[in-house]
Amino acid sequence: MHVAVFAFPFGCHALALINLVQKLARAAQETQFSFLNTEKSNNSIFSASIASLPDNIKTYNVADGVPQSHVFSGDPIERVELFIKETPKNFKMALETAVAETGQEISCLIADAFLSFSGSIAECLSIPWIPVWIPVPHSLSTHIYTDMIRQHYANSLGYGCSNSCGDGHDVELEEKTLEIPGLSELHIADFACRDTLVVNFYQELYPEPLLNDLKSKFSNLLNVGFISLSMPPPSLPPSTEDTTGCLSWLDSQKSKTVAYISFGTVVNIPRSEMEELAEALEESRIPFLWSLRENVRDCLPNGFLERTIMHGKVVPWAPQTQVLAHSSTGVFMTHCGANSVYESIANGVPMICRPFFADNKLNARLVADVWRIGERIDGGVFTKTGVARSLDLILQHEQGKKNSEQSPSH
Ligand code: UDP
Repeated sequence: MHVAVFAFPFGCHALALINLVQKLARAAQETQFSFLNTEKSNNSIFSASIASLPDNIKTYNVADGVPQSHVFSGDPIERVELFIKETPKNFKMALETAVAETGQEISCLIADAFLSFSGSIAECLSIPWIPVWIPVPHSLSTHIYTDMIRQHYANSLGYGCSNSCGDGHDVELEEKTLEIPGLSELHIADFACRDTLVVNFYQELYPEPLLNDLKSKFSNLLNVGFISLSMPPPSLPPSTEDTTGCLSWLDSQKSKTVAYISFGTVVNIPRSEMEELAEALEESRIPFLWSLRENVRDCLPNGFLERTIMHGKVVPWAPQTQVLAHSSTGVFMTHCGANSVYESIANGVPMICRPFFADNKLNARLVADVWRIGERIDGGVFTKTGVARSLDLILQHEQGKKNSEQSPSH
């Protein structure tokens, strides 16, 4: 068998997919896996991954569609659009290279479900196509029903279909609950994926109607658990691998007292909010570990790093799953990317949600209102008082829980 794997090279998608492929490659050692992804994304996931790849996985770079000497406007979506324009040509070329190098035709295609064209490639090659859904399955359902939802809001709010989901209408949309009428009008033949779908989720966590509905759409819905996590979690890496010193710093903190802060691999928070967040951390003196990319450090208030050195640590990248598994971590301030949410759930860490884009808002609603394992930041954006209040509330609650667990009467 020669399995080709198509990655979507943005956000955490490729990282989650390579985790799944590594598990498959270890279980099926006779099978060759060719992992196709852009060079930029390959470089970033393989520098972040501590485990080395099994011999039966080979990586190939696909073109990212960025013209030479292109000047970016600063809009993060621009890269995605250039990449999409380059598909499927770039994947087809890399596929030919993989076949030539291994001397084996492709017998199965696993692809991030965002790359819907991969279904046609598999069809042309007459091989099975296995799409993988990385975000929460709740958002899969909203994609399935996109046309109906747009129609519904266009009618009820009086907007044209094309901008019914535009940001400007968020306040009104926020007030409306989602009703999905007329399911009988949908035909299964309208949907691209009808057979197997791999989902980054546990069957036990679904609300029953969602699970039943998705099962009716896909004859083989494979809920493979949280892909970015090894369950049970691996033992902590030797201290030599704690290159950023996060884990040893956490060792020096008291149980459940630290706020871990990260907004994933894509989001840049606005400067004004960053300042409010930083001021709240400085004044409250709550111990914090902040994963903050180098290129946005300039937005921190002058002298912040020096003034908070006794109770805070700012790093460009944290071993997040291990940080969340550490007993000192009491709360996770997150943008609610699906993997961050999953990693927090797996480690029982409550969340403070500041959603920004893509599926973040949907995930924040699940965390705060459905699963009730965290709360949205006061007022929806970071303010000094809102941050301090949310942190206090959750950390005190965690302390209370810890004390009652330790008390002999419990
Ligand atoms: N991550 C990490 N260290 C960091 C920041 C992020 O290991 O300092 C990992 C995190 O564990 C998660 C992924 O990057 O698996 C981010 O994925 P998520 O779905 O939360 O957000 P996205 O980056 O897609 O917005």
